[in-house]
Amino acid sequence: MKKIIIALLVGWMLVLNGCAPAQTDNDKITVITSLFPQYDFVRQIAQDKVNLTLLLPPGVEPHSFDATPQTIVTIGNADIFIYTNTMMEPWIEKVIDNVKSNKLVIVESSQGIEYIEHGHEEGEEEEDEELDPHVWLDPLNAKIMAQNILDALISVDPDNAGFYQTNANALFLELDDLKAEYDEVFLDPTHKTIIYGGHFAFGYLANRYGLEILSPYTGFSPNAEPTPQAIIELITRMTELNIKTIYYQELIDPKTARVIAEQTGAKMVLLHGAHNVTSEELQAGATYISIMRENALKLKKGFNNE
Ligand SMILES: [Zn+2]
Repeated sequence: MKKIIIALLVGWMLVLNGCAPAQTDNDKITVITSLFPQYDFVRQIAQDKVNLTLLLPPGVEPHSFDATPQTIVTIGNADIFIYTNTMMEPWIEKVIDNVKSNKLVIVESSQGIEYIEHGHEEGEEEEDEELDPHVWLDPLNAKIMAQNILDALISVDPDNAGFYQTNANALFLELDDLKAEYDEVFLDPTHKTIIYGGHFAFGYLANRYGLEILSPYTGFSPNAEPTPQAIIELITRMTELNIKTIYYQELIDPKTARVIAEQTGAKMVLLHGAHNVTSEELQAGATYISIMRENALKLKKGFNNE
């Protein structure tokens, strides 16, 4: 009789294990992140110890995203929700006000980072200034974000603290290496001007390394088109500086960069802001570090007019 019960139990467990998809593993905590950098950091630190979801579907441009009632329900079912900051995800207030959960921990991953003002052209109205949300595009800021994520994981799931800490240490080392790569790019370039045909996302990098970023866009909204005047001014400046590269941003049709490239004969190069990735990039195994490494190589070439 005992043997039969054990056999039945084993059979039942096999069925359970065989049927349970990894995503609904109830023993694991559920983590949702708003943007790709946080998603990638959780993926590296927590690996298979959590059920992880990227809130924004791959390919979605995040500045135009808004939380729906469904978003709030989804976040309410999680153990941890990680966002960037209120400038990047202004809809977080709606989530905090409406989410119904006793267990949810909401993490502002930029906490502790010193914000800079969004760069503006000379003569632009001072009152238009706002803080720059794109903190993750500086590797040392990314390290602070990864630390905040680690702290949240450990507080909610202390049983796996050692595992999280070990993986985070490896990530911190990689981020230090990345920072060293950027130091090397900016050591002795021919020039330090980035001509960017997209919205201004690399302010933190510019701030750290004293770069000049020229863009015909004035705000973060990808829908606000630059004026013809701004485009003409930029083309004039490129000719004066003899710059041969125009960078463009991910996930948006680079029509402005294309116009400028056609007018100047400059090369169009993607400088990836890593807000989000496409499904193809996700499947190809893109990480925050792989994207930033590629950016470093492209900047090095551009700064040396290669
Ligand atoms: Zn942006």
